[in-house]
Amino acid sequence: MSTGHITIDLDAIIANWRALDKMSKSETAAVVKADGYGLGAGRVAKALAKAGARKFFVAVAEEGAILRQALGEGPQINILSGHMSGDTDMIGDLDLTPMLNSIDQISRHFEALPGHAFGIQLDTGMNRLGMEWDEWGAIAEIALAQHPTLVMSHLACADEPDHPMNAFQLDVFHQMTDGISVPRSLAATGGILLGKDYHFDMTRPGIGLFGGLPFENARHVVQMDLPVIQIRNLNAGEVVGYGNAWQAERPSRIATISAGYADGLLRSMSDKATLYYGDEPCPLVGRVSMDLLTVDVTDLSEDPHALTILGTQQTVDQLARVAGTIGYEILTSLGNRYTRRSKGG
Ligand SMILES: *Cc1c(COP(=O)(O)O)cnc(C)c1O
Repeated sequence: MSTGHITIDLDAIIANWRALDKMSKSETAAVVKADGYGLGAGRVAKALAKAGARKFFVAVAEEGAILRQALGEGPQINILSGHMSGDTDMIGDLDLTPMLNSIDQISRHFEALPGHAFGIQLDTGMNRLGMEWDEWGAIAEIALAQHPTLVMSHLACADEPDHPMNAFQLDVFHQMTDGISVPRSLAATGGILLGKDYHFDMTRPGIGLFGGLPFENARHVVQMDLPVIQIRNLNAGEVVGYGNAWQAERPSRIATISAGYADGLLRSMSDKATLYYGDEPCPLVGRVSMDLLTVDVTDLSEDPHALTILGTQQTVDQLARVAGTIGYEILTSLGNRYTRRSKGG
């Protein structure tokens, strides 16, 4: 067995969901797109459903179909990309709720599945998904007459509380939706932390459930341990890995670890990241290969069987910073060679 192990603390995910839920008076949904931010949408959603979550969001209908299988009938599964051509059977048969993003999608949905649940996504300035001011003006009355489950929009800069875009989008959202009698939603994790003006009727946290910023007080969710394949002694002056990118300055012990950039441990971590043996830091040396890492374990008092790259010693966001990216990208890049195990839930 030489693949890495990811241990997912479902109790921590539930605690994070409850903590985010407590921050608003609104209903709290759960966003589990991209296979639950790489941790397993089915297991995460089942644990959250048991804890009381009733509404879930995924990016595309195919993810919704997988989630429906895991959750069974009952929980509402919302599709952020809306109703694409080819989605009709999945949406209809599996009772998925598309967030319709354009007049085209509204027409498609009303024609293909009359009477079937839907929500509306509005663009309030991010220019990514949703109907813009003019489009919404043209269709709002017709769409609202069919009783959407939700009218939602998404904030572009919610992880920067002082960014003027937040208040701007809040104002646009009010202008586009005040006076309608449909539940509204604007906030993801960052929006929840912006305070009650942003909460409306439903919040949609994703990353905060999984212990990531901007939810600073999140409980730690992911532990990732990587097996050592072999350990060798180097003389001072010997080199390690592709491009001879690292050279030993002293007699060194180098552990070769089973995981690489194909497992989401990005090449930009080369010569920069730190792994841990218990609390003892061990620097990654040389380049990250596709399937392997090389780590300096010279200072350890014993030979490790495995090293930890994500855990209480190093959070997803700390590792992300080393790699020049964000926690979201680290989690969703992890790939499928790991053994994923969950505890609690
Ligand atoms: C991804 C996403 C969310 C969840 O965002 P987090 O920052 O992970 O909490 C909510 N709403 C929409 C539209 C999204 O795309």
